[in-house]
Amino acid sequence: MIKCLLIANRGEIACRVIRTARHMGIRTVAVYSDADADALHVRSADEAVHIGPSPARESYLVGEKIIAAAKVTGAEAIHPGYGFLSENAEFAQAVLDAGLVWVGPKPASITAMGLKDAAKKLMQAAGVPTTPGYLGENQDPANLQAEADKIGYPVLIKAVAGGGGKGMRLVEMAVDFADALASCQREAAASFGSAHVLIEKYILSPRHIEVQVFGDSHGNVVHLFERDCSLQRRHQKVIEEAPAPGMDQATREAVCAAAVRAAKAVNYEGAGTIEFIADGSEGLRADRIWFMEMNTRLQVEHPVTEEISGQDLVEWQIRVAAGEKLPCTQDELEINGWALEARLYAEDPAKGFLPSIGRLEVFRLGEGQSLTGARGRIDTGVYEGAEVSPFYDPMIAKLIAHGETRDAARALLSEMLNHSKVWPVRTNAAFLINALAHPEFAAGQVDTGLIGRDGERMTAEPKPSPQALTEAAMAMVPRSLCSGFRLNGPERLTAPFLLDGFRVDVMLRGPGSEHPVATMLVAEGGMVWQLAPWRAAGAPGVAAGDGSILSPMPGKIIAVEVAEGDSVVKGQKLLTLEAMKMEHSLTAPFDGLVAQLPFPAHFSIRCICFDSTN
Ligand code: ADP
Ligand code: ADP
Ligand code: MG
Repeated sequence: MIKCLLIANRGEIACRVIRTARHMGIRTVAVYSDADADALHVRSADEAVHIGPSPARESYLVGEKIIAAAKVTGAEAIHPGYGFLSENAEFAQAVLDAGLVWVGPKPASITAMGLKDAAKKLMQAAGVPTTPGYLGENQDPANLQAEADKIGYPVLIKAVAGGGGKGMRLVEMAVDFADALASCQREAAASFGSAHVLIEKYILSPRHIEVQVFGDSHGNVVHLFERDCSLQRRHQKVIEEAPAPGMDQATREAVCAAAVRAAKAVNYEGAGTIEFIADGSEGLRADRIWFMEMNTRLQVEHPVTEEISGQDLVEWQIRVAAGEKLPCTQDELEINGWALEARLYAEDPAKGFLPSIGRLEVFRLGEGQSLTGARGRIDTGVYEGAEVSPFYDPMIAKLIAHGETRDAARALLSEMLNHSKVWPVRTNAAFLINALAHPEFAAGQVDTGLIGRDGERMTAEPKPSPQALTEAAMAMVPRSLCSGFRLNGPERLTAPFLLDGFRVDVMLRGPGSEHPVATMLVAEGGMVWQLAPWRAAGAPGVAAGDGSILSPMPGKIIAVEVAEGDSVVKGQKLLTLEAMKMEHSLTAPFDGLVAQLPFPAHFSIRCICFDSTN
């Protein structure tokens, strides 16, 4: 068995792998960048090696540094987690060439599934149903347009090297095809180094169904049932679950058997996921589920499978990498209850899901408790007091609930989110609570377009209840602030507070409590508000009209659309900022003139000064 394992990743997945390794008695080595010197994965591992500056391409993506760290610490194996180098066949080969164990599939399997067109051709040959479409070499725009016309609209243009929901364009009508193709190819070339695309029929009422597969080096392949990841925002998963709502036994057997065929076609070893797209307009039917792609790694949402199967997939990965047989045969695996996972992001849904960074002054996640006493599971990569930096993915935790039924798991997950308190970094907790309560989600009728259609209802933020306000006010009231309270009526105090710029009058019964000022935060429904005593004259607000535009977060400027001296109109794009794997546009707040465009070093806040002409 492996005695020492290096984890070539960060965040929650590095912590997750460390947990299982420790349980198995394996020594763990973490790697970290400058920004992660105090990160949870560094604190959790037995040993940690610094591998470079904060940007991932100078640290977590540099294979040689990671292999050198393994050598220097005596690690015999490397677990890549997900993202980063996990699906990089060259890195996997380099690990093997260095005489180390690669906790993942053989490089050839990664390569076979790496490009979406090649993977689909391979699946067709293996008798796995694939989405109808064009996979040809002829990338001439006129030819691609003709193929799209033949397939019939709507179609999806996909970068063959794409991933993470990037490099895809939905085209509803023939007239829009040429523009969409050009923009897709530009993005694909910039993000993935290849402009090559395929064209697929866009499946209506789409549901994302995926199957967890596992293979070993003895030729065994099993599946661990399906997951449903249909709740998505811009093709990125938001809430995942297992099993899939409305999946009958015959359909499950058909789709899981297809997944096992797919894995066998590439001699698959280790954990993998076969993603399918289903036309859910008439429920799930075997003849309406098509192969989409294979992810040759552990998936973000693997915990829901662990919860319903009772298996530790990271332990399976390590055992298989060490040459052991799969811990279970297909007959020994069964589905137990229902599990849901919500991805908690450091982002602000009310501001267009803008990433939110900074120190986690308060970071408490509600564990929740089900009726049967079952507790929720939390996989996180941060702790109270840790920094959320702008360099990496903004996912800070996964909350996982397991129950006997879907409704029980849903209620537990909602309770966990309800009791979460994160501040001053913003999170999507309230959005997730709203999503769980959405009537279509509650009924198990989710297609990938739900958030696009009805997302506004989910981004609506609750206001704190009078009860929560009173409780918080009671905690902060004591003497120091009692002077701010007016006595109106016997044993009744009112005090005005500022809450998110709104004046809130808090009414307290009884005299001010004797408690010290414990908190001035009100936490409820996944939201946190700060209470501040009201000062009528100096109420804080946005400083209006000085003309500076402050970047909403530190990041890297990747495109500047204007120059000093340019006249601009309200809403006009000024520049594009890249932070936390996303692009954000800064736009002009009013008509004006660009007076100054100062650019200090990378990753610092930038201001642009305007002279208002009106
Ligand atoms: P990525 O590599 O970015 O994960 P996928 O091919 O897995 O790309 O597609 C991502 C998402 O896009 C899917 O989960 C699904 O929501 C949507 N999608 C992909 N292909 C289709 C299709 N043919 N019809 C409808 N939706 C699709
Ligand atoms: P999945 O289908 O598992 O969501 P994708 O193909 O969409 O996978 O992308 C890989 C996943 O890895 C994404 O969820 C992405 O956000 C995540 N990821 C990549 N790098 C990191 C990282 N450094 N920290 C946390 N998550 C990451
Ligand atoms: Mg995918």
